[in-house]
Amino acid sequence: MSVLKEMFRNLLSKPFTILYPKEPVPIPDRFRGRVAIRDEKCIGCSKCSVVCSVQCISMVDSPKEIEFKDKILMRKKKPQLKLFRCIRCGLCERHCPTGAIYLKNELSDSGTDREVVVI
Ligand code: SF4
Ligand code: SF4
Repeated sequence: MSVLKEMFRNLLSKPFTILYPKEPVPIPDRFRGRVAIRDEKCIGCSKCSVVCSVQCISMVDSPKEIEFKDKILMRKKKPQLKLFRCIRCGLCERHCPTGAIYLKNELSDSGTDREVVVI
């Protein structure tokens, strides 16, 4: 009896599912989305690469002058990240001293090519 009641109630109610990507999905605050890097803020310290839980960040040559705490530093390397190996744990963002690497508050693309990189 209760099953029939439930069936009739559901027949008259709106669906719970969302037609993504046609309809936008609500994204909660502090959502851990796609990783991005602000190149102009990166001092090349390698902390993100050391703490990454799945070792998807490697440091590549990228000499550049970077302003940090009122000084000009000469960066030698910058991170390069395998996008679809990243599990979006947020450790890189938490340990980056300059806020250069961060997780966007938006959905990540999906893909199977494990060699796609973010630089
Ligand atoms: S969010 Fe991704 S890139 Fe950053 S530490 Fe976690 S797995 Fe590594
Ligand atoms: S992104 Fe941040 S933690 Fe990674 S090398 Fe640059 S400054 Fe260091």
